[in-house]
Amino acid sequence: MPPAELDFAVPATVEEAVAELAGEAEAIAMGGGTSVAMLLKNNLIFPDRIVWLAGVPALRQLAVSADGSLAIGATVTLRELAAAEPVRRHAPALAHAAGIVGNPRVRAVATLGGALVHGDPRQDIPPVLLRPGCGSRDRPASGRSPWPGSTPASWRPLWPTVSW
Ligand SMILES: Cc1cc2nc3c(=O)[nH]c(=O)nc-3n(C[C@H](O)[C@H](O)[C@H](O)COP(=O)(O)OP(=O)(O)OC[C@H]3O[C@@H](n4cnc5c(N)ncnc54)[C@H](O)[C@@H]3O)c2cc1C
Repeated sequence: MPPAELDFAVPATVEEAVAELAGEAEAIAMGGGTSVAMLLKNNLIFPDRIVWLAGVPALRQLAVSADGSLAIGATVTLRELAAAEPVRRHAPALAHAAGIVGNPRVRAVATLGGALVHGDPRQDIPPVLLRPGCGSRDRPASGRSPWPGSTPASWRPLWPTVSW
């Protein structure tokens, strides 16, 4: 069972999100919550605060930049990735992988950021992004990892964009 007392923050900007994650409380980011919900229910994580990123418009961008690269925000869902014309054109492998994850209910809410940070080695999305020229822009590590034993170096609190 999740704890009875759990702070739930809904920041509107990346800066607010980083501040919520960096506070005194044991805070974790949440994208679609498909993994967070299961981890909570199974008593595998014990955060004091959940920082839901869905209200941050800057994390929802999906755009082709002037140099032709694709910029995808952390809270773009897998369903959006699979359907978006720019992704299908510029990154067909990513669109394909996003379209086969789980089931429609998972893809409707699971986000690119969550798919990258969750860190299950069986996940479909991370290997597709192991491609020359593909990188992530992230904030300085200021949050705490929900994973026992993981190091700050392997933990990125936010993934504003992945560019392709
Ligand atoms: C029924 C089911 C079937 C599935 N099948 C597949 C499958 O076939 N293939 C596959 O690859 N995966 C599968 N998954 C896993 C699924 O891909 C992940 O649960 C999902 O991608 C996580 O995305 P989310 O946005 O829901 O993450 P969340 O649950 O919100 O978060 C997951 C982790 O990422 C962190 N996080 C989330 N967003 C950010 C961010 N922007 N910055 C920093 N940290 C962040 C959270 O703190 C948490 O540690 C399945 C999951 C379910 C529940």
